[in-house]
Amino acid sequence: MLNKLSSALKKGFDRIAGAVFVDKKTIEAVVKDLQRALIQADVNIHLVKQIGERIKKEAENEKIKGIERKEHLTKVLHDEILNLLGKEKHELQIKKGKQTKIMLLGLYGAGKTTTTAKLSTYYSKRGFKTAIVGLDVHRPAAADQLEQLGKQTKTKVFINKSEKNPIKIYQQYEEQLKEYDLIIIDTAGRHSLDKELVKEITTLNKKINPDYTFLTIQADIGQAAKQQASEFQKACNVNGVIITRMDSTAKAGGALTACGETNAPVYFIGTGEKMNEFETFNPESFISRLLGLGDLQGLLEKVESAVDAKSQKKLKEKLEKGDFSLRDLQQQLKQMKGMGSLSKIAEMIPGLGKAKIPENMLGTQEDKMKKWEHAINSMTEEEVNNPELIEKQTNRLNRIAKGSGTTTTDIRQLLKQYKMLKEMTQGAGDMSQMDVSQGLSQKQMQKLAKKFGKKMKF
Ligand code: GDP
Ligand code: MG
Repeated sequence: MLNKLSSALKKGFDRIAGAVFVDKKTIEAVVKDLQRALIQADVNIHLVKQIGERIKKEAENEKIKGIERKEHLTKVLHDEILNLLGKEKHELQIKKGKQTKIMLLGLYGAGKTTTTAKLSTYYSKRGFKTAIVGLDVHRPAAADQLEQLGKQTKTKVFINKSEKNPIKIYQQYEEQLKEYDLIIIDTAGRHSLDKELVKEITTLNKKINPDYTFLTIQADIGQAAKQQASEFQKACNVNGVIITRMDSTAKAGGALTACGETNAPVYFIGTGEKMNEFETFNPESFISRLLGLGDLQGLLEKVESAVDAKSQKKLKEKLEKGDFSLRDLQQQLKQMKGMGSLSKIAEMIPGLGKAKIPENMLGTQEDKMKKWEHAINSMTEEEVNNPELIEKQTNRLNRIAKGSGTTTTDIRQLLKQYKMLKEMTQGAGDMSQMDVSQGLSQKQMQKLAKKFGKKMKF
């Protein structure tokens, strides 16, 4: 995501940190790199100019000297980018037991249908009872697509393939929908925001009265997002934006910053086709990641998405008792797969993102994880519960290796890793006490970062 902007920012920070004196020349070089990268990310040229001028002006403040000057400039650079992205994090205000309705709008191919399923996955993992209502009555394949996504994500989908009036479909299910905490409504798109679409959306808004009406925009359209967001906002009471396909374009900077300028802030971003490639948009942690400083809050959110609440609670209880078995490790390996590729995860771990781990190394680690999963599958229950049996008896080691298509070295490594993790989880009780949903204090973050930094070996 936004690799060029990311490397320009890192370079800028390094330039400031590495300079003996932060002189005019240094600042000019930083500003030039940054401006070039912002333009490449499709950020509006006027904004880019303004940012450059403000940074230069701050740099001329001769009163601040030495180290303080470096810190000051680093902060200016950081804050300017933060400002560009819209500063605050916007979150849904939803409660279990109280119904919230989200309606998704957007043009053809913006990612509405995919996003309804992503939203439902995101919130059902967090314990909300969710359902999807399909109101795209114009495209014949729309209902089938939703049906399939519903099966895949185990979400209840309400559709009616023979009804052509979306209001009627909604009314038909209104009674049944009462038992759900979160209703996500998929609507039909058009090639452009024409009169017909405005009319359809206005009627739906009136009858359904959603708590949130979100415009879905694909990142590829760059700066044009601004016009689209403000047009939809005027015509259809849009409260916020979801930007999809962040992964597939270098122009995402344009879409993100353009929405920062309207009153329709970005709530979520889609970062891939898979259901778990979806995040809340938090400008602060987004910048952290761009800078290679990691994003623990985002990482924890990802963990939460991958792990369902029930098994998380169970694991927490086990950890509190200092009880972590090979079976738990196997479960963890499975869930890590659900979090996406290791390189994406590594980007979010403070220190690791900056360390630039070679891709092939992460690939090797992924292969290893797969092998371990197979190896545990080939163990007997007795061996899973008493791994020391395997270490002591070579015939067991050979049998497991053969049965799982791995080598005895793989299995020895697995057992070593397991021991290390077991040791790590002992005394982790204080960590498992924290409530992730309440956010983390700076101190807890540092503690976690230290732990990760020490123990994660790739
Ligand atoms: P709709 O017409 O607005 O309902 O759009 P769809 O949900 O059918 O999505 C259009 C296409 O975009 C599909 O092929 C999706 O798989 C793809 N898509 C949606 N979100 C993302 C994303 O975040 N990343 C990528 N790479 N593809 C996405
Ligand atoms: Mg659709």
